[in-house]
Amino acid sequence: MSVDSSSTRGLTLRRVLHSRLARRIALSVLLAVALPLAVLAVLGGQVLESLDRRFASRERLVQVKTVAQQVGIRLGDARALLAAWPVEPPAAEPGVAPQDPDVRLRLPGLGQQFLQAALLGADGRLRWSTGGWPGPLAEAATALPTSGLGRSQLLAQERNGQPQLVLAQAQRADGARWLVELSPQALWQSVASGDVSTYWCVQNAQGVRLHCPAPATAGDPPGLVGTAIADRVHVGWTLPLEAEFGAGDWQFDMVQVRGPSAVLGPALTGPLVGGLLCALFGVLLASGVLIRRTLGPLQNLERGTRQLEQRAPGVRVEIASDDEFGALARAFNQMATAVDTQFQSLELLASIDRDIVAHRAVDEVFRRVLVQALPGLGASVMGLARVESARVPRLHLQWNDKAFVHKVRRSVRAMTPQEAQALLGVTGDGVWLPGEGNLSAPWCAPMRQDKDSALQALPLRWQDRTHGLLLLGWTAEPPLQRLREAAELRDRLSVALAAHQRELELTWQARHDDLTGLLNRNGLHQELDALLAPAAAQDCAVRTESRPGGTALAVLFIDLDHFKTVNDNLGHGLGDELLRQAAERLEACAPTRAVVARPGGDEFVLVLPEADDVAAITVARAVCRRMAVPFSLGGKEHFLGASIGIALAPVHGDNRTDLLRHADMAMYTAKDAGRGRHAMFEEPLDARLLERSALLADLRQAVARKELVLHYQPRVCVADGSIVSAEALIRWRHPTRGLVAPGVFIPLAEESELIEAIGLWVIQAACAQLARWRRDGVPLRRLSVNVSPRQLQSGRLMEEVEAALVQHGVPWNMLELEVTESLLVGDARSASEQLHRLRERGVLIALDDFGTGYSSMATLRNLPIDVMKVDRAFVQDLSEDPSALAVTRAILTLAQSLGKHTVAEGIETQAQADLLRQLGCDEFQGFLFSPAVPAAEFAALCRFSVQPPVALSA
Ligand code: C2E
Ligand code: MG
Ligand code: MG
Repeated sequence: MSVDSSSTRGLTLRRVLHSRLARRIALSVLLAVALPLAVLAVLGGQVLESLDRRFASRERLVQVKTVAQQVGIRLGDARALLAAWPVEPPAAEPGVAPQDPDVRLRLPGLGQQFLQAALLGADGRLRWSTGGWPGPLAEAATALPTSGLGRSQLLAQERNGQPQLVLAQAQRADGARWLVELSPQALWQSVASGDVSTYWCVQNAQGVRLHCPAPATAGDPPGLVGTAIADRVHVGWTLPLEAEFGAGDWQFDMVQVRGPSAVLGPALTGPLVGGLLCALFGVLLASGVLIRRTLGPLQNLERGTRQLEQRAPGVRVEIASDDEFGALARAFNQMATAVDTQFQSLELLASIDRDIVAHRAVDEVFRRVLVQALPGLGASVMGLARVESARVPRLHLQWNDKAFVHKVRRSVRAMTPQEAQALLGVTGDGVWLPGEGNLSAPWCAPMRQDKDSALQALPLRWQDRTHGLLLLGWTAEPPLQRLREAAELRDRLSVALAAHQRELELTWQARHDDLTGLLNRNGLHQELDALLAPAAAQDCAVRTESRPGGTALAVLFIDLDHFKTVNDNLGHGLGDELLRQAAERLEACAPTRAVVARPGGDEFVLVLPEADDVAAITVARAVCRRMAVPFSLGGKEHFLGASIGIALAPVHGDNRTDLLRHADMAMYTAKDAGRGRHAMFEEPLDARLLERSALLADLRQAVARKELVLHYQPRVCVADGSIVSAEALIRWRHPTRGLVAPGVFIPLAEESELIEAIGLWVIQAACAQLARWRRDGVPLRRLSVNVSPRQLQSGRLMEEVEAALVQHGVPWNMLELEVTESLLVGDARSASEQLHRLRERGVLIALDDFGTGYSSMATLRNLPIDVMKVDRAFVQDLSEDPSALAVTRAILTLAQSLGKHTVAEGIETQAQADLLRQLGCDEFQGFLFSPAVPAAEFAALCRFSVQPPVALSA
């Protein structure tokens, strides 16, 4: 975009008028020219006026002088006329009218210059006269000297206030002489001008006012009335008449009102105004040219600046003059070029920022940067390399050259450790590889460039590590500004690469579990979805042609048994450690392509692609075995185990939600079945699970609603068949379900915190019942109560038991607490200590369901146990299964060797009873004798048990 500085396009009058600079220029020029002109005019006017005055007074003087001389000439003429008059009087009679033609013919001038005439004889007597005698002439004749006068005589006299002038001829030889009265009209005709502003007054030496139009005393003469004295000009002239007329000097005065200057009148004003106008026009013209020459370039520079401000590309102001404006335009153009480059560079950097914010793929960002930055930087070739961290690092390289800016080539290849090390070793301000050296630089391959151009490698770094390179080939040494721009670009690309890396990390974090490094729930869902996706299905369909109907895979839902106990007792630190160990074991069991995940808590999921039921069960068994091995935590061994639910696709579901839900449900089946085992999903489980959650909801209310009751199952002394003790077994009188067995709700209660409240209620209820039986005289030695491991873990069992016994006044030794081997899970020492303390007070401790758990001999020896109860599982098969008999015998032998009292539970047949009696068992418990019955019924049983219900001796 070019702006012509010489052009005045757009320089309108309006713009000029609005321009302060234009106004200032015009004002300056105007002041510079007009002020001196005005001063000159004023001074010139004054000079001219002074000249004019001088000239006017001289003119007036000349005028007065001329008038006086004219009067003098007329007097001279009158004398000459008179001298020419005849000696003799005319024939006409005296008293003739002066206008008489004959007389006028003889006496020239009569009736004109002369009003009256009279001829006096030598004796002074009148010889002839016109009609006016005696009149003034007679008066003059008397005043005349009679003789001796060689000259004409002029007499001035006032008669009736009017001046009269009489001229007496010089005495002739005969002594006669003519007297004439001069006609004032003829004499003063030049004096009496029609100009009213001029006042004339002629006086003789005697002060006779010969020709003063108005009386001098009565105010101003006409024409001067109302004029200031200062405005009046008085000029006087003296006409000497003494020599010729013996009349003294006549004073001629002229008073005139000073009129407008003749010099400064229209004649002079016209040219003066014209001149001034011309000067003004000249000033306007000059200032116009000056304004145009100044405002034009300024306006274009301003336009250019505004375009630059609006970031218009390629703004230029054309240089048309060599003056300062030209220099300014050149400087502007240089600045515009620099700003242009800066803008482009900033725009590129900003576009990188936008790409970062928009999470654009880093290779796409690199590609755009290569295309946009190369022309601006002026390098011959440009490349961007980044290292993808993996087990085998990979080099992602993109490059282009100035010949084909848009042809960005790309290569991705594995790097040798040496190559990776060389690239990551580029730090700080980078390295320069001159000439051919760059070809050997490992990060260049397969990028190539001219042999004679140097390669600059700038590291893309963050967190003190190099992650990539910006490569620039320079054929000549680049200017400092280019290097700076390259460094800025490098910084911004580092940010882009860091953002990319960070995103990868975030993606990893979003998909993985921090603790174990396994996939988290999100990652599991994605992987499972991917495996179940149609593409995957097709892919699998090719490989598993024998399995029509969708993707074949197995989902194993694994829950660690008793994890909560360990976590609660050992703290979260060791709980986490346990989860890590479990994750490692799981990974060790997982086949190569298996997906291993920890969706949360102590739950793990294994997805086995292409696995059928057999493969899934094989893996599940391996996991169970592995998890049954004690975990070493805090220097001690802890028994846990895992329960596994299996769901198969597509049989149990063809989508992620169904498969996970069904595997989870199957896992609960495994738990319900005794933990430490696996279970395959079965459809009805779904309904059971719903019932389970409904039951749990009801159970929460059960204690408060007093729906729980205790039944009592007698324990019979083998020796005499009497009921010596009983086991309190809980029942739930459900409002709709009827009497619910503990096997249904106790596992539920144990999974929640409810078991503690229920356990407390059982102890209280059992002690209360024991107290009542004692009062009623029921012959019972002791009552056993089942205690859940969580009651021991709470640490309050001792005080709860004591409170109940004390409250109901029951002796300590009448209470027996049945614990299972699962109390060994978690903090076995604390459990053992509590049992010890209870035992010290007299409470008996029974190990329930012995033989089903993980008890080791060492643990058994250390536990404070009085009674060992052989589990029903062994008793059941006693008569049919020789191995069951062997195990039962081993158990009883072991118990007896440890000096424990033995109880066999679940005896249903006489054969079982007989075998157990032979094996030396101390007490029997089972349906053979009685199921668990309500308290009243139990009391009745006891009363009759003096005689054994069945012949024990048989
Ligand atoms: P357990 O402590 O081993 O109790 C013995 C179970 O065997 C009882 O089942 C009893 O009714 C049953 N039984 C006894 N003789 C026979 C027999 O000859 N044949 C058969 N088939 N079964 C027999 P029950 O009452 O259903 O209790 C099941 C389990 O529930 C108990 O096993 C115990 O672990 C738990 N339980 C019962 N009451 C409580 C309680 O108050 N607190 C706790 N924590 N658990 C309890
Ligand atoms: Mg029991
Ligand atoms: Mg039992």
